[in-house]
This record gives sequence, C-alpha cells and structure tokens, in this order.
Amino acid sequence: MDNPALDLKRYIRGIPDFPKPGILFYDISTLLRDADAWQIATARIARAVAAWQPDILAGIESRGFLMAAPLATRLGLGLVMLRKPGKLPGETVTLNYDLEYGSDSLQIQADAIKPGQRVVVVDDLLATGGTLAASISLLRKVGAEVVGASMVIELSFLGGRSRLDVPVHTLLTYD
Ligand code: AMP
Repeated sequence: MDNPALDLKRYIRGIPDFPKPGILFYDISTLLRDADAWQIATARIARAVAAWQPDILAGIESRGFLMAAPLATRLGLGLVMLRKPGKLPGETVTLNYDLEYGSDSLQIQADAIKPGQRVVVVDDLLATGGTLAASISLLRKVGAEVVGASMVIELSFLGGRSRLDVPVHTLLTYD
C-alpha cells in the first residue's frame, strides 16, 4: 500500500531548542501517530533491511525500539534491546563511550546474540554517529556480525555515517 509520491518528511517536525538551547530536535512522534505514514515508513525501511539478510535486529533505547519492533515483526525476525545501564535483568555486557560533552553507556544481555548471528542495528536518528558506533562495538563484543545500520533520519551535515564501518540505510536525509 505504499504511495511512492508520499513525502514522509511532511510527518517530521523540527522543534528548536530542545532538549537544550541551540539544538533542533527532529521529532518522529508526528510520524508515529499517523497510521499510514508509520506503516509506509516501516515498509520502506524493511525493504532495505531485508536486503542485508539479517538473522535478528537490535533496537537502541528508546526511540530505536519503536522502529525496530515493527520492522522485526514485518520481517519475521527476533529483536534484542540495547539499553541504558540497570534496565536489563540477568548477566549483561556494558560499553562506555564518549560523547561531545561527557560520556554514556549501553548494555546488552550477555546471551542475547548467538555467535556469528547477522544483526542489523536500528535507531530513530543518525547525528554524530557516536551512539551507533558504540552500539556496533557492543554487539561485536557479544559475538554479533553487524551487517547494517538503519535509521529513519540522517543529519548528514554532522558526518555520522563516516564513523560507521557497516552499510548504512537512512530513510530521510537532512543536509
Ligand atoms: P549521535 O550519537 O550523535 O548520532 O546521536 C544519536 C542519538 O541521539 C539518537 O538516538 C537520537 O535519538 C538522538 N538525537 C541526536 N540528535 C538529535 C536531534 N537533533 N533530534 C532528535 N534526536 C536526536
């Protein structure tokens, strides 16, 4: 039911000075709340992700989950979560990474990935690429073969793509 003429950028709004002064926040809430737009976005992304023939998807907390879950069910795949520390039960593996100002961490359950499983990592937005690069490292730490990264939005002027050593697909690019 895709309408190739439908410009999904119409469903994304930029909110200035959120969460901090000087940041233009690209809000996917307005895409998610439109049933047709969300369906079409998921279908278009699913086509690109399927081409990498993943065994499983990995979603990044929290808006990444909102894209990874419908993609996984559409493609008939399982889903693993990359979460902020302290949220996942059982044995976990942690990766700490530096941000422009400060640092952050992500965790995964130690047994989430079977050795050599082909994983596509999913998030809402690619900015500097720090979050994605850390997610890829964490997935490799637990034995994944990361075969691609998929985001709804890419802020191409920040050059995040050049920090990633896997194929990247983004649906909407802002430059
Ligand atoms: P980065 O690590 O710089 O690529 O940032 C990516 C993460 O931060 C994603 O999980 C996004 O949800 C969030 N993010 C960064 N910049 C923005 C922005 N301008 N609008 C919305 N989300 C953003």
